Amino acid sequence: MNNIIKNGLYGFAIGDAMGVPIEFTPRVSDESKKLKEMVGYGSHHVPEGTWSDDTSMTIATMDSIQECKGIDYYDIMDKFTNWYNNALYTATDRVFDIGNTTRLAIDKYSRLSMNPLQCGGKNERDNGNGSLMRMLPIAIYLFYNNLSEQEEMEIVKNISSLTHAHDISILGCKIYVDFIKEILSGKSKEDAYNSLSKNNYNVYFDNNTIEKYDSILNGNLKNKSIDEIRSSGYVVNTLEACLWCTLNTKNYEESIIEAINLGKDTDTVGAITGSLTGLIYGYDNIPQRWLSKLRKKEYLDELIDKFNNYLNNENVKVRG
Ligand SMILES: [Mg+2]
Repeated sequence: MNNIIKNGLYGFAIGDAMGVPIEFTPRVSDESKKLKEMVGYGSHHVPEGTWSDDTSMTIATMDSIQECKGIDYYDIMDKFTNWYNNALYTATDRVFDIGNTTRLAIDKYSRLSMNPLQCGGKNERDNGNGSLMRMLPIAIYLFYNNLSEQEEMEIVKNISSLTHAHDISILGCKIYVDFIKEILSGKSKEDAYNSLSKNNYNVYFDNNTIEKYDSILNGNLKNKSIDEIRSSGYVVNTLEACLWCTLNTKNYEESIIEAINLGKDTDTVGAITGSLTGLIYGYDNIPQRWLSKLRKKEYLDELIDKFNNYLNNENVKVRG
């Protein structure tokens, strides 16, 4: 069977590692000045091929799901804590980046022993992309499980709320999950995108929240000019940038070059875009010259195998 998690996770980790050295830098429009190779140092002074918190939290979530044979919010937070305190799940045995809202949530869990579902930031300013960036395993898990729409919503809400509990973050995660599920069920990226505007998000979210995503849900995102695309760490801007890059490029390589050269939150925009285009075009479409530089590939393969074993052998039904 097609190795979905390998396509998605390598797509994600490569996009992350490509963006790390130029995080927080301005947009590059001049084609000849765009970063197209995997390089080291720069913004975080880490060697080439180093993934960041985005990939660490994503693989921590994968590891938890396969180990617990399902979703256990305490265990996921235990593994996030282990990442933050002990550098588990890192590329260089060092944690060099973490968002404020995420750090506060992990502190609430690990130091104050709060219920994991009560740890996430609830204010409107707590809408960075910190929960969106770790949703890939959840999207795949939900694709493999025949859950009701309400059950899926509950899981997405709870997973986001471990760190990001505001409705804007939760809806961003839900739109991302819905897009991936459509792709995995065989739709083209265009059809998957168009289906988003038909979803009844108003059952779970108020109009103010839904309006934040109007530029995605109005069906016209592909036609926006690059100047209208903001690639900041605000979850709405991040998701918009990633879908825009996915819709406006025709292979994995192009999508990552487009994504990371948008500037600002380049690692997360690169990673999330890469998760989508990795799933769409597959592992074999990822340039070898980038793959060969990624750190700890054997470790990632091990985690991918374990997750696949769980999905294929445990009590999880393949959808469709
Ligand atoms: Mg990062």
